[in-house]
Amino acid sequence: MSKLCQGPSCHMYDTTDRKRGAKGNKRNITRNVGTYGYGGKNFCTLTCYNDWASENMDRAIDYIGRLREPKAMTADNSWVKRERYTWQRDNGEAEHYYHNMCTNEDRELTQQQYNDDNYTLNTN
Ligand SMILES: [Zn+2]
Repeated sequence: MSKLCQGPSCHMYDTTDRKRGAKGNKRNITRNVGTYGYGGKNFCTLTCYNDWASENMDRAIDYIGRLREPKAMTADNSWVKRERYTWQRDNGEAEHYYHNMCTNEDRELTQQQYNDDNYTLNTN
């Protein structure tokens, strides 16, 4: 079952794939989302996504919870897993490592730690 584009004006864009009906009774209909699926696979194009956002984004954010205080990247929450390519491993360095975006510290990882989605050095 294909999903309909949620763009409020999707049917108002005049393209041949939106046209339905016989001569004298032609109309344009809302598209299916299709293979691209913009905006979390809810819109057929970025234009339809932007149309929806202009009309609804404030209400959606208020419903979910608006950010009221700035977030901060600190040494405790900025570890990211990285992979070294062969040409980057010149001193016997490990293939996988954690990099701290805040402090620039690197810590080596085993393959198992790298593949484990639950393994993290981030503490908040
Ligand atoms: Zn659309």
